[in-house]
Amino acid sequence: MARRPRIPAALRRQVAERDGWRYAYCRSPSIVGVPTVIEHITPLVAGGVSAPDNLCLSCYRCNEFKGPRQQAVDPRDGRLVPLFHPRQQRWADHFAWADDGVTVEGLTPTGRATIVLLQLNSDWLVQAHRIWIVVGLQSPLE
Ligand SMILES: [Zn+2]
Repeated sequence: MARRPRIPAALRRQVAERDGWRYAYCRSPSIVGVPTVIEHITPLVAGGVSAPDNLCLSCYRCNEFKGPRQQAVDPRDGRLVPLFHPRQQRWADHFAWADDGVTVEGLTPTGRATIVLLQLNSDWLVQAHRIWIVVGLQSPLE
């Protein structure tokens, strides 16, 4: 298996600052607990490059659940649809916080498919969002 190219520290910092130190998919603050990775939105195996427009800040768990995928199944109708692309799409166009402020709702096929594949409403993540709101690391509905 080919070794993944190392992303230079300056580029990692540039991506993190641009993304506001929040993970592109689950919107968790990057300073809390979970290892941070720089995600290739279009995977290297699919021809993606290590350039700012193809990189986003991600938590380890979202990165692992996504893997090399670019599509997933919309649970509403079973169609294969593109995953959310953090550099080409706006999070708020595809996702919304439910009234509880900690559960994510999919507004589009892409949003719904991304939620399922990346398990954005897992018990662990929902509980983490609750804690981050209480301690002021995340604003409700942000
Ligand atoms: Zn995440």
